[in-house]
Amino acid sequence: MQNFDYVIVGGGSAGCVLASRLSEQSEVSVCLLEAGGDGNSWLVRVPFGMVLTVPAPLINWGFKTVPQMQLNGRRLYQPRGRVLGGSSAINAMIYTRGHPSDYDAWAAAGNPGWSWREVLPYFKLGESNLHFQDDYHGVDGLQPVSDSFTDNPMHKVFLDAAQQAGYSVSSDFNGAQQEGVGVYQVTQRDGGRWSAARACLEPNLSRPNLTVMTGAHAQRVLFEGRRASGVQYRCGGRVATVGAHREVILSAGTFQSPQLLLLSGIGDGRALQNLGIPVLQLLPGVGANLQDHLDYTLIHRARSLDLIGASPRGMLRLIHEIGRYRRERRGMLCTNVAEAGGFLKTDASQPRPDLQLHFCVAIVHNHGRSLQHLWHGYSLHVCVLRPASRGRVSLASSDPGKPPLIDPAYLSDPRDLDVLLRGFKLARRILAAPAFSPYGGRELFSAAAVRDTDICALIRARAESIYHPVGTCRMGRDDAAVVDASLQVQGVERLRVVDASVMPTLIGGNTNAPTMMIAEKAADMIRRRSVSGASA
Ligand SMILES: Cc1cc2nc3c(=O)[nH]c(=O)nc-3n(C[C@H](O)[C@H](O)[C@H](O)COP(=O)(O)OP(=O)(O)OC[C@H]3O[C@@H](n4cnc5c(N)ncnc54)[C@H](O)[C@@H]3O)c2cc1C
Repeated sequence: MQNFDYVIVGGGSAGCVLASRLSEQSEVSVCLLEAGGDGNSWLVRVPFGMVLTVPAPLINWGFKTVPQMQLNGRRLYQPRGRVLGGSSAINAMIYTRGHPSDYDAWAAAGNPGWSWREVLPYFKLGESNLHFQDDYHGVDGLQPVSDSFTDNPMHKVFLDAAQQAGYSVSSDFNGAQQEGVGVYQVTQRDGGRWSAARACLEPNLSRPNLTVMTGAHAQRVLFEGRRASGVQYRCGGRVATVGAHREVILSAGTFQSPQLLLLSGIGDGRALQNLGIPVLQLLPGVGANLQDHLDYTLIHRARSLDLIGASPRGMLRLIHEIGRYRRERRGMLCTNVAEAGGFLKTDASQPRPDLQLHFCVAIVHNHGRSLQHLWHGYSLHVCVLRPASRGRVSLASSDPGKPPLIDPAYLSDPRDLDVLLRGFKLARRILAAPAFSPYGGRELFSAAAVRDTDICALIRARAESIYHPVGTCRMGRDDAAVVDASLQVQGVERLRVVDASVMPTLIGGNTNAPTMMIAEKAADMIRRRSVSGASA
């Protein structure tokens, strides 16, 4: 058995940051176990590759939820990256952080050190912003963040339409004012995707104290008494173990970190016993508190070649764009599809936005897995930023090779349907604004829905995840919490969870940057140091 100081399970957004930061100390050894491959492919590096990697199980776990009672019993698609970089290797590259009040709420819920004032230095530490240089942004971090490289004229059309509908523009969603519409900044440099692996891990792969094992699927955490001592994993058909002198850190993401805890005997006692798994630590909160951004997409079919589509002229344009990308690293191949968007309120008297919009320069129906995807058009996604519904991840089987049961329980709290209904109407108003008139867009799927009851029926028939599940290893100090504010698993020693699963509540924005921030802060807590202005 090989031994290291730290064993990290999962080389995703959080795992890559952690592996990089912990191995900065030459005196400690770090091992990163990743179930997927190295991701060294144009599908990851060229942003346009996401039109293939999101819909298909190429480097993607391609999970499905259990039937969703409030969504006509549908099983919703849940893509997750299965590759170094994790979901940051297949995501839409949008760089947003949420609202300051999200983090203040984490701190107020009994998590000292996680207020906005205390986490902002960790956002900045990780960030290398190529455009903003001010109090809100970092310029020396590992993660490049840039304005869009697509130069798509449709951005202006969307921004004009939103202003005509009465909404203002935010010049920086991560700056002084989140509220408004704008063009998203992306985790790109020189027109290429900079996943967490490319940004944080690749530059440090030559460190002698860092070992990265790909194709290594962790099966459970090993214990000596109550102390985590290593990890059992499967690689190339063989089962092997790796030892950890100091800590085991789970960064397998919102679905698989709780799965690993449960497989290791940490969770709800009765559920574990039913599957014949010996109980090491009763922790009923493992897998509970699942939250996700449920989303409805309004779709218009339209003719413009600035909109991605597979018509003969669209294909010629694409060939031209491939040449342009090779020469200039700009244009359509740099697309993150959801190029613009915004944070808006359903009611102006609210203290903060409760909806997020993603404006896509393509038809995005059923995650790009339908034939309509080939037509030219535009889509406006609207999602509920802080859902009240709570779901759960649990085990289907004691076999680590089987996917977990994922039940987000979407719309189980009726307040979420009300917010989404209002969001639908708001999004439709923007798409009806004069700026879109020259595109003659025809509303697909929803044109006939006018009454609230019809719109709600459409939501139940068509709403989907916009890929931000969190919360299944919740941080807190009550009995249902899984980790404490230093991200250590309650009731056992030398075991932490560091990824999106520790978020107590879903933040009002996309979750990649917040997850990387969590890992930056965790690395400091593990190393017992702190960046200036923050408490680790
Ligand atoms: C299609 C899509 C689009 C998105 N778009 C955006 C966006 O534009 N902006 C944004 O901010 N967020 C976006 N997100 C969300 C964001 O990418 C995630 O919140 C973030 O990457 C989560 O990071 P993580 O470290 O928790 O998990 P992940 O990055 O998913 O990493 C988990 C890693 O663990 C590995 N793993 C799992 N189980 C095991 C095991 N048993 N053994 C070994 N390895 C294991 C996985 O293969 C994976 O590499 C998107 C997500 C998806 C899927």
